[in-house]
Amino acid sequence: MDRIVIAHYAEISLKGGNRRPFTDRLRDRIRQAVNAAGVDAGVGVESHRLVVTPRAGQDHDRALRAVLRVPGVANAALATRTPPELEAIKAAAVAALKSAPPGSFKIETRRADKAFPLTSIQVSQEVGGRCVVETGRPVDVHTPAVAVRVELTRQHAYVSAGTLPGPGGLPVGSTSRLMALLSGGLDSPVAAWLMMRRGARVTGVHFHNRSLQGPAVLEKLEDLCGVLAWASGSMPLAVVPFEACQRAIVATVPETHRMLVYRRAMFRIASRLGYAEGALGYITGDSLGQVASQTAENLRTIHAAADLPVYAPLVGSDKVEIVARARALGTFDISIRPHEDCCSFLVSRHPAVRSSVPQIEAMEAGLDWEALITEAVDKTTRRDILPAPDAL
Ligand code: ATP
Ligand code: MG
Repeated sequence: MDRIVIAHYAEISLKGGNRRPFTDRLRDRIRQAVNAAGVDAGVGVESHRLVVTPRAGQDHDRALRAVLRVPGVANAALATRTPPELEAIKAAAVAALKSAPPGSFKIETRRADKAFPLTSIQVSQEVGGRCVVETGRPVDVHTPAVAVRVELTRQHAYVSAGTLPGPGGLPVGSTSRLMALLSGGLDSPVAAWLMMRRGARVTGVHFHNRSLQGPAVLEKLEDLCGVLAWASGSMPLAVVPFEACQRAIVATVPETHRMLVYRRAMFRIASRLGYAEGALGYITGDSLGQVASQTAENLRTIHAAADLPVYAPLVGSDKVEIVARARALGTFDISIRPHEDCCSFLVSRHPAVRSSVPQIEAMEAGLDWEALITEAVDKTTRRDILPAPDAL
């Protein structure tokens, strides 16, 4: 009997005949996460489930936590692997139940291999009967305190109690690259993660004004990417020096509208960075109406400067939902560390809540975009951020 981690995949199952590349990708993402967790394990696909087999002496709980970080995983559990024989399954189920929380239980059986001599219901009855005798615990098929799962494949049986939900969605790499504009605040890392969960490969881009923002914000960004990287194996982070560009904007654009032009400049620079990577869009943490730059008028003005679609998955979320997501993701405590925001650089205390594209274009007329973009891109620094071991 081996102790393993068993994971079921989410939407991949909708992909029909095209499933194989998706399961291969999920296996690769899980392998990266388990390695990053420092667990030596084999990872394989077996009858529509992923099986992680840690070598002797490895930390199984840590392997499970890593697996639960990977988009594409619907749920996962620690399980016992036995030969597909009733006696062995019964013994494993009794042991699983004995180490589970107290109370009623039920057995849920799934047969991937229909050649097994008993039906799923018969297996559940046989195994449940033995569990009642050996533990004295009552069966409750509707609202059990513990659900014991028995999964039968051709080669093995897997027995687990206490399946935990994963992120769902698709493994990173299933869809194309997007550039995530990361401020260091609460919203943008959550937005980036939501798009990773849709399978996007994501490059983080942070605009940094040295004269306003200390080095602490860069450490924050690395820590945030260290959390996000659990989903993807690693995450590129580009830091763009923004001071020269902002100073040029300050010299020509009235303070009420500078924030809008800063944000339009970010898309122009991200476009150049993303082009080299084949990126197909931008991700922002915009939430309609949350701050002055996020009125519908201003979002139109800002997003009009983007040459590719802008994905703002939090646009309809309220702050309570975003905070809950940030907590679940593990970015909340990092995001709330105080930091200066480059968009507050010499802006009005009462920024415009309305704007239009022609009006902003007129204000931008004196800017030499090509020179500003080229300089910023030339001085951009990049790093690949790996999953942070202490964020697991
Ligand atoms: P966040 O919590 O992500 O900071 P926010 O609600 O505070 O968002 P803003 O600070 O106005 O709103 O920023 C809106 C969006 O613009 C951010 O979510 C982010 O995508 C992008 N953004 C703002 N500042 C920066 C920056 N310095 N570098 C990269 N992107 C930025
Ligand atoms: Mg912010």
